[in-house]
Amino acid sequence: MFIHVRDLELKPAHFDVELPPGTIEFLDPKLKQAAPLHASGQAELVMGSLGEIRVKGQVQVRLQADCDRCLEPAEFPVDSSFELYYRPVEEGYGEEKTLDAGEAEMGFYEGDGLELNDVLREFVLLALPMQKLCNENCKGICPVCGQNRNQNECRCQTTAGDDRWAALKELRK
Ligand SMILES: [Zn+2]
Ligand SMILES: [Zn+2]
Repeated sequence: MFIHVRDLELKPAHFDVELPPGTIEFLDPKLKQAAPLHASGQAELVMGSLGEIRVKGQVQVRLQADCDRCLEPAEFPVDSSFELYYRPVEEGYGEEKTLDAGEAEMGFYEGDGLELNDVLREFVLLALPMQKLCNENCKGICPVCGQNRNQNECRCQTTAGDDRWAALKELRK
């Protein structure tokens, strides 16, 4: 769905979309939209601005990405509300107008408006955890033999006197 600025000058645009898995594509080929994405909300012009668009709503989707520790594919549910702002590139908003800290995420658009799918992609990326783990207890890959330690408990780390192992045991208590 394309959000036209001209339409917004008349009234806010409401959306309620269900995108089949794979509709949203990411730069990172390992990141995939693994389930239907449902999004609803509205886009409107910010009062008194020069064509600034606010898009807010709710998104539910599951993404698939590789676990940062064991590198196996894992799913990450996103279910959250969002609010993003977009300014036109050419309207003279420039460097002199810096963003306040803590201000909602700000993007830019060119031309007639915005593609809703681009907005949703951006939000979903922001909603992903910084550290993507298949499980918070994921044991990761053994640095010695390279095995996935969730699948195979190798013996590399069991040498007596290995401090890192002791520290880990301490953490688990
Ligand atoms: Zn993992
Ligand atoms: Zn090992």
